[in-house]
Amino acid sequence: MTNPHPAPPNPVPNPARTPSPGLAFREHDHTTCALDILARAEALTGAAGARLTPVRRRTLEILLEAHAALGAYEVLDRLAADGFGRQPPVAYRALEFLVEHGLAHRIRRMNAFAACMHPGEAHQPVFLICRGCNAVAEAPAGGVRPALDAAAHLAGFTVERASIEALGLCPQCRAAA
Ligand SMILES: [Zn+2]
Ligand SMILES: [Zn+2]
Ligand SMILES: [Zn+2]
Repeated sequence: MTNPHPAPPNPVPNPARTPSPGLAFREHDHTTCALDILARAEALTGAAGARLTPVRRRTLEILLEAHAALGAYEVLDRLAADGFGRQPPVAYRALEFLVEHGLAHRIRRMNAFAACMHPGEAHQPVFLICRGCNAVAEAPAGGVRPALDAAAHLAGFTVERASIEALGLCPQCRAAA
């Protein structure tokens, strides 16, 4: 899969280390963006006493390519094409490692995975999922989680974990519709 949102011919340098909300949906210097995330992933796994092995790194690169959510079998096909073998556990283990180390998120409604754009930062994102191109952006949950907690409280329910995912159209797909 190719990047559906290629950078403009003269990309402006990445101004901030932390990508702004919705970056995945906008034209940006994706080469710099992906290299930055990969460098942060190397540093984070090293600090955690783990290793971004070639298959783990390649899996993250695949997820980063288009900021899109990919299923484990799509990842497996890509890994197999790159010579990492065709055994499903190869993809599952690499994806689990990335999720465990906060380098990827599980997108539950699509049974898929997306690279995290804020590795190493404590965040509880709302996932914005484009139904046109499968691109996934993270937006700060802001007041969403307190509102959810309050609604749950009225039902006498304590929320332990929540994954907030919204389905819709990204700016490019909306413009093309
Ligand atoms: Zn990017
Ligand atoms: Zn994230
Ligand atoms: Zn889209």
